Amino acid sequence: MVRHSSRIELSQSSLTSNINFIKKKVGKGVRISSVVKANAYGHGIEEFVKMAEKAGVNHFSTASAFEAETVLEAKSDSSDVMIMGILYSEDIGWAIENEIEFYVFNYDRLSLVLKEAQKLGKKAKVHLEVETGANRTGLPERELSPSLSFLKKYQNHIEFTGLCTHFGGAESFSNQFKIDKQHKKYKEYLKLCKKKSLMPKTRHIACSAAALAYPDTVYDMVRIGVSQYGFWPSPDIYYKHIQDANKSNGALKRIFSWKTDVMDVRDVVTGEFIGYGTAYQATHDMKVAVMPLGYSNGYPRAQSNRGHVLIKGKKAPIVGLINMNLFMVDVSHIDGVEVGEEVVLVGRQKNNTINISSFTQVTQLLNAEMLSRLPAAIPRKVVK
Ligand SMILES: *Cc1c(COP(=O)(O)O)cnc(C)c1O
Repeated sequence: MVRHSSRIELSQSSLTSNINFIKKKVGKGVRISSVVKANAYGHGIEEFVKMAEKAGVNHFSTASAFEAETVLEAKSDSSDVMIMGILYSEDIGWAIENEIEFYVFNYDRLSLVLKEAQKLGKKAKVHLEVETGANRTGLPERELSPSLSFLKKYQNHIEFTGLCTHFGGAESFSNQFKIDKQHKKYKEYLKLCKKKSLMPKTRHIACSAAALAYPDTVYDMVRIGVSQYGFWPSPDIYYKHIQDANKSNGALKRIFSWKTDVMDVRDVVTGEFIGYGTAYQATHDMKVAVMPLGYSNGYPRAQSNRGHVLIKGKKAPIVGLINMNLFMVDVSHIDGVEVGEEVVLVGRQKNNTINISSFTQVTQLLNAEMLSRLPAAIPRKVVK
């Protein structure tokens, strides 16, 4: 196989440390569901699932049936998969057959699920997602009671695997009133389950931010995305952690680094323009290194003439526009740069580090947005 123009490395020890940190935060007996939607937030779903299992995770959440199919191939037999989002009606049978758990947020769906479960002679594993105030997906209040009656009647064919909801903005303390309201609603729904004497196997409402900052939102399971990858959900949540932390509390570690190597090195004389247009004009005689990737490979075009890469542990500033498949950096101040030299795009080299957040400040992208856009074709390699 020929080489790709860049590569992503994933640190197993950092992930294990993050999972242990989150476990400690949420407490014993709480199951962690590793949210691996969007190609595991760009980390690479197949590699990531195996790494997470090594770190002690045995439940995975995806946004779609399509992603769940990938998890199914990568995971071991003892792990479970849950679809939180799109599952087309024609794929319900497939989900049941493969023992995949899935959200239901319309009453009408239940009869379809029942039909498939009966046809296959196998129990469906259903999480009822309830509407609590995010107005995204979620069973409307009036549909909960009939849904519970339905589940009770057909217990032999449908397992009431979970009752869940999702907070609309637990990352920000300014949303606290909304989060509180949503949680209150959820508790009312739990009461209704109790009244109907039909309790879900698992109760789960917390994402990273809620699990880290609002301990009372932690029930039987937490759905952890961004923080397992080593990112604090927001400055709010990070500051709260710092305030609460005692010395033994540890920290989150980035597990991701992105590397390439120098494709060419060339001299540019004073007054010449570098790359397309007139975006960068050499003000002195320069040495420039060519990078074999560009915006089509997930490197944001907004980094043009801004930001830098690391070569020989030193910062090499980007000069000119990010092209589709190339960009140039200034290495005038770095001695002995040769073709094939390792380049760090994100991550650490010697005493310097480039964080995803340094990109996202310039590009206005969210950390998760930037990461999840990295092409799946970039090879992922697990390192220590
Ligand atoms: C993405 C997602 C999560 C994980 O959120 P993080 O903030 O990344 O931890 C949890 N639940 C649902 C329903 C989601 O869509």
